[in-house]
Amino acid sequence: MTSSPPGASETDLGRKRRARKIGRVLAETHPDAHCELDHTNALELAVATILSAQCTDKKVNEVTPKLFARYPNAAAYAGADRAEMEELIRPTGFYRNKTDSLLKLGQALLDRYDGRVPGRLVHLVTLPGIGRKTANVILGNAFDVPGITVDTHFQRLVHRWRLTTETDPVKIEHAIGALYEKRDWTMLSHRIIFHGRRVCHARKPACGSCTLAKLCPSYGTGPTEPTAAVKLLKGPRARDLAVAAGVDPELVPAQAVAAEVP
Ligand code: SF4
Repeated sequence: MTSSPPGASETDLGRKRRARKIGRVLAETHPDAHCELDHTNALELAVATILSAQCTDKKVNEVTPKLFARYPNAAAYAGADRAEMEELIRPTGFYRNKTDSLLKLGQALLDRYDGRVPGRLVHLVTLPGIGRKTANVILGNAFDVPGITVDTHFQRLVHRWRLTTETDPVKIEHAIGALYEKRDWTMLSHRIIFHGRRVCHARKPACGSCTLAKLCPSYGTGPTEPTAAVKLLKGPRARDLAVAAGVDPELVPAQAVAAEVP
């Protein structure tokens, strides 16, 4: 007898249960999940998140130590020399627009919030350069307010898992939020994004070495043969990821371990 794929003719309750199981497996798979943008306070995180548009977190983290040292507070951003800031953030791309956002962000924080980053979504989204996604990153990681971060990885994975058919990020946020406990939202977002960067890639997901294979209706989108799939794992924990999926870690090539996580 062949069993139907997970997600086929599923009730709302069945989907919720499967979503919770996915959440638990992800927690075991990615115990190291965290915000990958280096920061020590809300302003630094806001700045790093603005710089991360169309840029890898790794590249942002290379640029921010100098930037944070040069501009330690909102007043420093507001009064910054444009050309100097452009030069500092140039490696992150779109540096003219990003400089513009950072100068305006500094000014808005000074004018309206006494130089501090506000801790509420309604206020954050009114700030230059800060949309809902960035606001949720800031709330979850700098203020401990649970937030769901719907980035490109998050969207792709929840669609592959058929947890929602919504395509608008705000609707996705609400649909996924309803499936999980609010207190879990921030870590869930990190774990989903970790999985998207290391295992469930956009072009070739590593289905044959994925811990979610039994829970995923899209199993088979990428190679299911473990020897082919392990080559697609990425990052320093690639061998641990193989072990977690029940695959021989010896099959993981050195390039996979050394591969830069996108
Ligand atoms: S089984 Fe494949 S499509 Fe499903 S989560 Fe894993 S890598 Fe992604």
